[in-house]
Amino acid sequence: MRISVKDMADRHVAANQKHWSHDRLTTVGASEIFLCARRTAYAKAETPPDADHEDRYGARVRGDLIENHFWEPAIRGQKPEGVQFLFAGREQKTLVDGYLSATSDGLLVGVAPDALAHHGIPDLGSDVLVVECKSIDPRVSLKEAKSEHSGQTQVQMGLIRACTPYRPNFALISYADASFLDTITEFAVAFDPTVYSAAKARAGKIMLAEDPAELPPEGKIAGGGECKHCAFHRRCQGSLVASIPKESIPIGDNAMASLKALVEQHEAADATAEAAGKRREEIREQVRVLLRDLGTRKVAGDGFSISWFPVKGRKSLDRKAAERAGIDLSPFDREGDPTERLTITLN
Ligand code: SF4
Repeated sequence: MRISVKDMADRHVAANQKHWSHDRLTTVGASEIFLCARRTAYAKAETPPDADHEDRYGARVRGDLIENHFWEPAIRGQKPEGVQFLFAGREQKTLVDGYLSATSDGLLVGVAPDALAHHGIPDLGSDVLVVECKSIDPRVSLKEAKSEHSGQTQVQMGLIRACTPYRPNFALISYADASFLDTITEFAVAFDPTVYSAAKARAGKIMLAEDPAELPPEGKIAGGGECKHCAFHRRCQGSLVASIPKESIPIGDNAMASLKALVEQHEAADATAEAAGKRREEIREQVRVLLRDLGTRKVAGDGFSISWFPVKGRKSLDRKAAERAGIDLSPFDREGDPTERLTITLN
């Protein structure tokens, strides 16, 4: 019988899924609220994932391991005397406000007002502090808290304010380096009620959408990075293609004026992007010249790093050579999913 630790680990994770007392299909969680709205709506509607989607559990399990076996015991065991650590570990609570929910990592109660003075915050304005556990790939450069984590933390603070007697004004996000757990980077986040109310409204919009496809494809709009990990990529793409009108018909003056205004804005955005792209390349060339002059390919500075190295060419199949050799590759051709193209030109 084949022995594979990877197989056993996969089965172990599948058989030991986290169980939530709260029905997560009825609300949008703090970790989901700032993801692509359409993606979250597909998930809430229990839409089956794309057939070829692979659910990578690695980052999720890594986060749980670090939180449960390192972060939470460290805080619980070492918090200053007189400070309580609530809503953490086994006492984690899911708080719900309308369609928005969050399971907090932890709340410190009884902290000194100057607990975050080393982050430039002389007075917390209360004796409570939200603490948020994150782990991070060491290749990621962290100059500030990631925007999705800041947003998630705002939701945590807002829900604690809305559902408990505590009024946190600040949170501390700690990022543990996934390779070297003793490297922990911390950022303080101040509560912003406008972010919380925007998140609440957004949760309602997502939960009340009749069809996820009526929500904007925010992942695609943001450049497609999120789409690479989205379980509904094919479905989303298919609905976009299916929504293309079949006909080409005359339109009225108002619609024509609206489209013309959008085309002009598109042209202006294109020009800005082109200028920014050119400037970026000029700067990159200056960096290359400087490295060449200095005779180094790697620099690690204060808050930045640069490396310059050759990359091997990609291997590709020479179809023409195969044909010349009498090999017919057409039985192995695969047609991709239909996609869409929008061409905008200003004459
Ligand atoms: S494929 Fe991209 S745009 Fe579509 S639902 Fe997924 S993340 Fe959103």
